Amino acid sequence: MKDTEYVNLLNKIVEITQKHNRWRRFECINLIASENVMSPLAEAAYFTDMMHRYAEGKPRKRYYQGNIYTDEIELLAMDLMSKLLDVEYIEPRPISGTIANAVVFRNLAGPGDKALIAPVQAGAHVSHTKFGTLGALGIQQVELPFDQESWNIDVDKGVKLIREIRPKFITLGASVYLFPHPTKEISDAAHEVGAKVVHDVAHVLGLIAGKVWPNPIHEGADVATSSTHKTFPGPQGGIIFTNDRAMYKAVSKTVFPWFVSNHHLHRLPALAVTAVEMMEFGREYAEQVVRNARAFAEALVEEGFKVPTEGLGFTKSHAFVVDVRPQGGGAKVAKLLEDANIILNKNLLPWDPPEAVKDPSGIRIGTQEMTRFGMRENDFRELAKLMREVIIDGKDPTEVRKKVIEFRKNFVEVKYGYKVPKELEESLIKVPMLL
Ligand SMILES: *Cc1c(COP(=O)(O)O)cnc(C)c1O
Repeated sequence: MKDTEYVNLLNKIVEITQKHNRWRRFECINLIASENVMSPLAEAAYFTDMMHRYAEGKPRKRYYQGNIYTDEIELLAMDLMSKLLDVEYIEPRPISGTIANAVVFRNLAGPGDKALIAPVQAGAHVSHTKFGTLGALGIQQVELPFDQESWNIDVDKGVKLIREIRPKFITLGASVYLFPHPTKEISDAAHEVGAKVVHDVAHVLGLIAGKVWPNPIHEGADVATSSTHKTFPGPQGGIIFTNDRAMYKAVSKTVFPWFVSNHHLHRLPALAVTAVEMMEFGREYAEQVVRNARAFAEALVEEGFKVPTEGLGFTKSHAFVVDVRPQGGGAKVAKLLEDANIILNKNLLPWDPPEAVKDPSGIRIGTQEMTRFGMRENDFRELAKLMREVIIDGKDPTEVRKKVIEFRKNFVEVKYGYKVPKELEESLIKVPMLL
């Protein structure tokens, strides 16, 4: 390549990145229920030399030299998360929620064994299913019965099925997680037949840390898996936690070498910062997230949308779904909203067949990220009006986009977290976000 070609390519890479950053960070309203942003201090703690290093194995028992300080930070992050979640054992090395599931599932079962899972259409994560990690491990899935009326697992039928199937383990938790699954009842039945309960709290970890959602370990689950970047506003990554020492030992012996070699060390200082922030602001943040979700769902109903859980008080979490069949289905609605800079995803609703995944009945909405940027109930009511203009009034989305960009200007600073203190600004390695 000629010199000018390199320059052109580099310019192009920078330009694409800048466009993304500006669009998603300053011009869009983000309602994707699985995303969030870190605080300025956590972001600063993320861009460190640790992003280039390796540390296979556990702290103080690494296979490489050079880990004096990464050992220290990993132990500190574990200790902080253990205090925050009020559990004994934390395994922070899975690099994502899916990897955390893989580690736990493979410890509890092998090829040919059976697992019970929440139904896919009712929000089980793909990693729980035969299409994802469970299937890749050769473990068979049997779906727990779902009760559409309570928008939850049918406890009586579920308990019967547990006694009948006698699975190796049961997964609870979901990616459309509006009401807490019945951990205690399912765990009691599971333990009767020698099965373990894995509760995947990827979506609600921040609500658990903020004490507005039950901690499944305190309700009888044997082990919990999670992402660290959904309602918990930390770096992208995974985590496993438990009070069961044998479970912890088994899991932590196998994270490496089964599913992780390098565990992306730069996550750990950012995770530790976020843990401290959640100790201080977690409750206030989590309460506002849930209040916003309910107010937003209610406002959407007032604007003419259909929220299937209206009769149940809409939601107890950050998330809810809208049935947009009358407006042309999930695929069409999600795309029109994207054209107006309102970002969310299409989603299966409990009555959809799995094949409907490309054009399901619903859209899924989460309030956690915009809550971090300072939006409150009345702001979500404004947003519901903008959504009506695009989807129900049929206004040109590119015209509504202009209003969305103006609206977003009020919500650019991250709340419920720390800024970089003045005295630290000089000592940061400067990696500004490309804007
Ligand atoms: C998002 C999600 C995961 C996967 O987490 P990643 O960190 O994206 O791998 C696992 N389980 C549930 C319930 C989820 O919603």
